[in-house]
Order: sequence, then C-alpha cells, then structure tokens
Amino acid sequence: MEDRIDFFNKMYDIVRLVDPLKKRVVEYKGSLEATHDEICYSYWKRDEICDNCISIRAYLDKKCYQKLEQLPNTIMMVTAFSIENLETPLVLELLKNVTETMMVGTGNYLEGQLLHDLITKLNGLAVKDELTDIYNRRYINERLPADIVRAVIENSPLSIIFLDIDNFKDINDTYGHEFGDKAITEVTGAIMKCIRAGNDWASRYGGDEFLVCLNRTSEVEAYKIAERIRHGISELTISPQNKIKLTASLGVYTMNGPKLTAAELISCADKRMFEAKQQGGNCTKWTD
Ligand code: GH3
Ligand code: MG
Repeated sequence: MEDRIDFFNKMYDIVRLVDPLKKRVVEYKGSLEATHDEICYSYWKRDEICDNCISIRAYLDKKCYQKLEQLPNTIMMVTAFSIENLETPLVLELLKNVTETMMVGTGNYLEGQLLHDLITKLNGLAVKDELTDIYNRRYINERLPADIVRAVIENSPLSIIFLDIDNFKDINDTYGHEFGDKAITEVTGAIMKCIRAGNDWASRYGGDEFLVCLNRTSEVEAYKIAERIRHGISELTISPQNKIKLTASLGVYTMNGPKLTAAELISCADKRMFEAKQQGGNCTKWTD
C-alpha cells in the first residue's frame, strides 16, 4: 500500500486514507497543509458532513466515484476508491487541484458565484429529492450509518422519526396528482420548520413517507419534536379554497445504549408509525 500511495502522490495534490464511517482521515500525504487524524470534511472548511459524500458511497458500493468540491478559491476533483479486505472501512481519496485546468477557461470564473453555485447544485443532485429539495433515500443510506457511528462513539442518543401522510391516496384521487405534489411540498415545509439546522436532517423516504434524523436527541425531546411536526401538518391549509386538511402518523425510535444498524433503526421507527396508523392516524407513537 505504502509504495502505491507514494506513486499516487506524484499524480495528485493530496492523497489521504479516510475512514468513511467515522469521517476521520487516518493517513495523509500531500502538499497542502493538513493535520493527521483530522475530520475529513474540515478540509473543505466545513463543520458539516459533505452532502455528496462519495467516500461512503465508494465504500458501500465497492466502486470508484468522482466529484468536484470547492475551497474558497480552489476547485478540487476528488476521486474515492474503496479499499477492500480490511477489518476497518477505509477509502483512498485522491484530490487534484483543477481550478486552472478543468473549467471554462476565461480564468475569471471564480469572480462570480456561477461555478460555486453549479458545484453546490451538482453535489446536491445526487442526494436531494427533486420535488421537495430535501434529502433522498440515497442520502439516508449514506448518512445514517455515519450518524450511528458518531452516536456510539459519543455515547449520545440518536432519534429517528418515521412519518407517513394519512389517506394520501384519497387526496390524490380526489384532487389530482398535482395537488398531491403540492401537499407533499407543504408537509416538507412543516417538517423543516421544526428541526434544528446543523443538528437534524430530514429526508423523503419515498412517496408520502419521510424520515427525520435527530442527532444527540433523547426520546422525550424527539417525541416533542414529532408532536410539533404533527401539529404543524394538521394546521396546514391547502387550496382549493384552503379547505383540505392533512394529517400524518409518526413513529419515534431512539437508539440509546444498545446499538442498532441503520436498517434496524428505521424498521423500529416504521413499526411505531404503523402502530400510530392502526390507532386511527394523526398521532405519534414513541413507546411500546
Ligand atoms: P395510509 O393512511 O395508510 O398511509 O394510506 P395512504 O392512502 O396514504 O396510503 P399510502 O401511504 O400507501 O399511499 C401513498 C400514496 O402516495 C400512493 C401514491 O399514489 C402516492 N404518491 C407517491 N409518490 C407521490 C408523489 O410524488 N406525488 C403524489 N402526488 N403522490 C404520490
Ligand atoms: Mg400514507
């Protein structure tokens, strides 16, 4: 491995080995300043996990992925390869400065917001839902395992809310698909109003189902947030004639101590959402 990394070092500006679950750089070689064992996304001058994290994707799919990322005045091409047959997950990240070579060629593209906006948009496309602009299922699959690892390391509670709109088929059938789309967008807005930027994230699980992840959040707090969301949805007034009322069923599950995989965590919250449905809907189930 060592001699191969030395070879890549001749071709790239940064060569680093990253644990994609812990989000830590475990080995670093390259010309730009960096400290060993740092958080991988801090390189991008960010306090947040990258939306379009290709390292976790490379690790999960056992494939190579590439993307563009940006520093204030630099565009970097990032390539991520999963390294297989190791006990700990590890991804090789190769970073190349393409600011002068890749783009339009006029040289002044960094003056405008255009390219930065484009890169932000491109990185969002892979992990955002088209209708609602919140995260999609792929993001859940890539982000939730990392949040679980962090919760286990920190020994902090991690809560999930699974939400499904009640009788949504009837709404589509009665008022049309376009109206249904509007309802889904409004529900998204009601969810986003109740979650905390930087700590929580919301996603569309599929159809009329949503998944909200509440980091460092106990089950009592998560229940309160879920109830705020449920209330917000029941208060929505959507045309025609602002008469249509929406309700939703929510299941809350908190990982606090015993460890669960992402699939297990989602399944527990989904089960409670189903119990809420069976109790007539428009309620939150958060205990057994
Ligand atoms: P329940 O209360 O049991 O959840 O009943 P429901 O009618 O809501 O049933 P269900 O959740 O199974 O139905 C979801 C419906 O959502 C089915 C599908 O036609 C509709 N749907 C899925 N995606 C979209 C979308 O993007 N736009 C619209 N308008 N409808 C969608
Ligand atoms: Mg439904």
